[in-house]
Amino acid sequence: MYQKFDVVIVGAGGAGLMAAMQLPNASVAVLSKVYPTRSHTGAAQGGVAAALGNLEEDHWKWHMYDTVKGGDYLVDQPAAEILARDAIDAIYELEHRGLPFNRTPDGRIDQRRFGGHTRNYGEAPVRRSCYAADRTGHMLLQTMYQNAIKNQVRFFNEFLALDLLINEGRVCGVVALEIRTGEIHTFHAKAVLFATGGYGRAWRVTSNAFACMGDGMAIAYRRGIPLEDMEMYQFHPTGLYKVGVLLSEGARGEGARLLNGKGEYFMERYMPTLKDLAPRDIVSRCIIKEIKEGRGVNGEDYVYLDLRHLGEKVITEKLPDITEFARNYLGVEPIREPVPIQPTAHYAMGGIPTDNDGRVVIDSKWTPLPGFYAAGEVACVSVHGANRLGTNSLVDLIVFGRRAGKHMARFIAENDHVPLPSHHEDFAREMVDHLLTSKGGESAARIRNELQGEMLENVFVERQEKGLQHAMDTIAGLQEAYKKVQLQDKGKTFNTELVEAIELGFLLDCAAATVHGALARKESRGAHYRLDYPERDDVNWLKHTLIYKGDGACEARLDYKDVILIDDPIFKPKERKY
Ligand SMILES: Cc1cc2nc3c(=O)[nH]c(=O)nc-3n(C[C@H](O)[C@H](O)[C@H](O)COP(=O)(O)OP(=O)(O)OC[C@H]3O[C@@H](n4cnc5c(N)ncnc54)[C@H](O)[C@@H]3O)c2cc1C
Repeated sequence: MYQKFDVVIVGAGGAGLMAAMQLPNASVAVLSKVYPTRSHTGAAQGGVAAALGNLEEDHWKWHMYDTVKGGDYLVDQPAAEILARDAIDAIYELEHRGLPFNRTPDGRIDQRRFGGHTRNYGEAPVRRSCYAADRTGHMLLQTMYQNAIKNQVRFFNEFLALDLLINEGRVCGVVALEIRTGEIHTFHAKAVLFATGGYGRAWRVTSNAFACMGDGMAIAYRRGIPLEDMEMYQFHPTGLYKVGVLLSEGARGEGARLLNGKGEYFMERYMPTLKDLAPRDIVSRCIIKEIKEGRGVNGEDYVYLDLRHLGEKVITEKLPDITEFARNYLGVEPIREPVPIQPTAHYAMGGIPTDNDGRVVIDSKWTPLPGFYAAGEVACVSVHGANRLGTNSLVDLIVFGRRAGKHMARFIAENDHVPLPSHHEDFAREMVDHLLTSKGGESAARIRNELQGEMLENVFVERQEKGLQHAMDTIAGLQEAYKKVQLQDKGKTFNTELVEAIELGFLLDCAAATVHGALARKESRGAHYRLDYPERDDVNWLKHTLIYKGDGACEARLDYKDVILIDDPIFKPKERKY
C-alpha cells in the first residue's frame, strides 16, 4: 500500500512525539511497532534534569559542565550548552501540556538529586531532577500522547519499519510491515525522522524493554549511513540481580546506598565527595571491583542497594514502583531488607550522527543527508559523550526532539517531495520473503541467546582485546547463522516470530558496530573501560568514532570526527576526579 505525507516519524517514544508536536500544519504520520504508550520512555523512572533552581541555587552552565565532565569530554560542547539551556524551557512546556510533576509545598516543581549533577562545577550534589514519583517517563509519555491525539497526528501502530528510501541524494520515505496483516506499506515523505530508541537487548542482563532492538540504527547503517561512538554503551549500576530490571538512581538520589558483602558502604572509599551519586560508569566499575576482590555478597557476583534507612514513608511515596519490582522479581522487601543488584545494560550514548537540529550527518565534515532526521536514544548529537548522566536522556528527547521537529517544519515548507527510487519495496520484501521461505533450519532464539551471553561476557563494564576479538568472531559466526534462520510460523497475521527474527537482524548489526568501535578505541574513557588501556588518551582519542558498514555481514570501515570544544577554560578536558 502507498501513502504520502509531509513527514514520517518512526517511533512514538518521547523523542518522536515531541517532534510530532512541532508540526501542527503538516500532514504527519507516526509509525510505531508497539502501541505508543508502551514505548520504552514509559519505563523511565528517576526524572528529567533542568537547572530550575527551585530548591537550591542552580545554573544551566553548571548543568552543562556536569554533562561535559560526566561524558568524559567526548561531548560536543555547543550541543551540551543547548541541552542545558533549553532544558528549562522544555520542562515548562511539559508542565503546561499537563505533566503532573511532584510539587514543593509552595507549588513549584519538586527536584531531587541524581548522579553526577553538581552545584558550582563539581562542589557537591545539587537537586536538579524534576520528577513524578518514580514514574516520570510514564507521565511524560501519557502527556505527550494525549497532546499528539489532540493535535490529530496520524498513528500507524504496530507497523515495523524495515527500510529507509533514498533518491536524488535525499531521504524520501520508509517501507514498513503492518504486523497485523503482514502487508508491506510505502510511506512517501518530504522528511523522515527516526526516533526508534536504543538496543539494550543485545545484553542478557538489561534494563531495556523487549522492543529495544536497535532497528533505526541498523536500518540507517545498512543504507550506508555511519553510526557514531557505538562503543560508548552505558551499564547502569543498579539492575536487579540476574533480571536486570532497573532500580532507578532516584533511589540513591533519595539517599539509598550501596553495600558490599562485608557490610561496608563502599562508595565512600572510592568517591569521598559524590559517594553513591558519582557518575554511572564509575559506580558500575566500583561494583565490579568489589565483586572481583571478593566483597560481593556471599562471594557471589552481586552487591546490595540499601534503602532501609529511608523509612517506609519515603519508600512508599517517592519510590513505589521500583520497590514493587524488588518484591515481585526477587521476593525482597526493601523496607526491611537490602536489595541484591548488579550492573545492567542500559543506554546507548552512540547512534546515528546528527547536528544540533536533528539533521543526520554522514561524514566527518558534517555533511547532512537532506530530509533525514534522528532524535532521542537512536541519535548521537553528541551530548552524552562517553557516559550519560542520569535524567539527561529525557531532556535530550524533549530538547532535540523539539529542535528536529521545528527544523522539519522549515524543511517541508521549502522542499517538495522527490520521487521514490525505482523498485523501492524490493529490499524490504526480500528481507521478509527470505525469512518466510528459508529452510536453513537455524533458530533465531539460539542466535539471540548466544549474542546476549557473549555481549555480557566480553563487551560489558570491563573490556580487553582478547575478549572483544572473541566477541567479534562470535558475532561474525552468528551473522552467518542468521542467514539460515527458519521460521515455524509462515503466516501473515500477527506473525510475531517474523517480527522478532527481523529485529534480531537489526540487533546483530548494532552489536557488531559496538564491538568494532570498542576494539579500535585503545584507551579508557567513560563507559568504555579497557583493562589493557586503562588511561584516557586525549592526544590520540579525543575524537568520535564513525562506523560504516562494510561489504560482508560483519565488516566495517572506521573513520573519526573531531569533538567540538568551546573556548572556555572551564570546559577544557581535565582529569575526571570528583
Ligand atoms: C528502565 C529505564 C529507566 C530509565 N530512566 C530514565 C530516567 O529516569 N531519566 C532519563 O533521562 N532517562 C531514563 N532512561 C532512558 C530513557 O528513558 C530512554 O533513553 C528514552 O526514553 C528513549 O526514548 P526514545 O524516544 O528515544 O525511544 P523509545 O521510548 O525507546 O521509543 C522507541 C519508539 O520507536 C518505535 N520503534 C522502534 N523500532 C521501530 C521500527 N522498526 N518500526 C516502527 N517503530 C519502531 C517503538 O515502537 C517506540 O515507539 C531510562 C531507560 C530505561 C530503560
